[in-house]
Amino acid sequence: MHSVYDSAKQRLQQLGKLSGVSNHVIESLMRPKQTLCASISVLMDDGSTEYFEAFRCHYSSLLGPCKGGIRFHPTVSQNEIEALALWMTIKCAVVDLPYGGAKGGVIVDSKKLSRMELERLSRGYMRAMADFVGPDKDIPAPDMYTNARIMGWMRDEFEVIKRQKSPAVITGKPVSMGGSLGRDEATGRGAYLVTEFLRHKEGKAAEDIRVAIQGFGNAGYHMARLLAEAGYKVVALSDSKSAIYEPDGLDIERVKSAKDKFNVLKSEYADGESYELKEHQVISHAELLTLDVDLLVPAALENAITKDNVHDIKASWIVEISNGPITPDADKILFKKGVVIIPDVLANAGGVIVSYFEWVQNRAGFPWTLDEVRERMREKLKASFEDMWVYQHTNKNTSLRQAAYTKALRHIEKVVEICGTKEYYSNSEV
Ligand code: NAD
Repeated sequence: MHSVYDSAKQRLQQLGKLSGVSNHVIESLMRPKQTLCASISVLMDDGSTEYFEAFRCHYSSLLGPCKGGIRFHPTVSQNEIEALALWMTIKCAVVDLPYGGAKGGVIVDSKKLSRMELERLSRGYMRAMADFVGPDKDIPAPDMYTNARIMGWMRDEFEVIKRQKSPAVITGKPVSMGGSLGRDEATGRGAYLVTEFLRHKEGKAAEDIRVAIQGFGNAGYHMARLLAEAGYKVVALSDSKSAIYEPDGLDIERVKSAKDKFNVLKSEYADGESYELKEHQVISHAELLTLDVDLLVPAALENAITKDNVHDIKASWIVEISNGPITPDADKILFKKGVVIIPDVLANAGGVIVSYFEWVQNRAGFPWTLDEVRERMREKLKASFEDMWVYQHTNKNTSLRQAAYTKALRHIEKVVEICGTKEYYSNSEV
């Protein structure tokens, strides 16, 4: 079994070869620039001390300061963080952001920590990384099991260490601490927008599209909410503990309020004013992925679709909110089956786009309205989606993922070339 970073590099090599960029460019992306590993000691509420392994990877800074989220999860590893940082490098280039790629993480089951232990861990992470990050070096953001409050603690810790205000050191902060309006919903909204672009191209009615979403966290919830508001039928949802199915379509806000209350996706709950009991079918995590739906949205962890379950996938569209949810071998099989996949590097780019807007607003000291944020994100995603659509439809036998990687790698190639390559230095006439 390949590690997730091996898979990410394998995909880079395969798609890079077909993109026509020089091998020099691919080689420059086959290894991270640097990765910092740290051990964070946290004083627990009972007076004991626990140690947590932490990472921060700067994958590439060719296009600008590094940018990428911080993940708190028990399965975090250096290998996973480097894969995610490589994908961030591609993603920032796909949507034309002046950033390189980074990622960070801590091996921790944050659900087992008290609020104060979580704050000490978050501040400890920033103390370990304070010389590695900065508004012109590397700008972290939220990812799985981290949120706006954690970003706020980290900004505060950085400023205590540096003895100066530095709002642009981190994005995804609470709005009251310099965060951008619209950042909390940005990843889900971005995924919704690219789905809408695809739907219009394919001439389908929203009402005819049945959707299953794996992962009902920040990104999955906003995606589900916006799709349901637009008329799509969201029939299945899962979180780490359970999965529910309702063939007539789920009421997303009711499911969300039940989840907020009980911290689990419930198969039954009282339905609003009438207090009627609503029951939904409980299905397994594996069943959710193979339901007979039109659109499947992985929004949890990587490697959800592998060669083991790919033959059972029935959806004709997949919108990848999570990073790397489909392994390269499964990807090939889906491509042959004609499944349309909006790749992670575009589908979940709404988050980093609005993070970029937050950084711009912080540096200018001038906040934007929610409408400005939403409209500018839409423009950026629309332009990238159109680039990819045109590439895919003018190049035979190719995918939107190939189109995205080609765009990103050609963008990076321009910087590599201008810095000087073997071809340039060995040809005095150029
Ligand atoms: P989150 O922590 O808010 O939510 C994650 C959700 O996944 C939770 O509901 C959790 O219960 C669920 N989950 C975990 N394991 C699962 C499993 N095995 N099956 C089903 N559900 C499971 O995280 P998020 O911010 O919504 O991120 C989700 C994905 O989107 C991640 O892969 C992340 O890298 C990616 N992403 C997030 C952002 C962002 O801005 N938040 C940006 C780009 C990409």
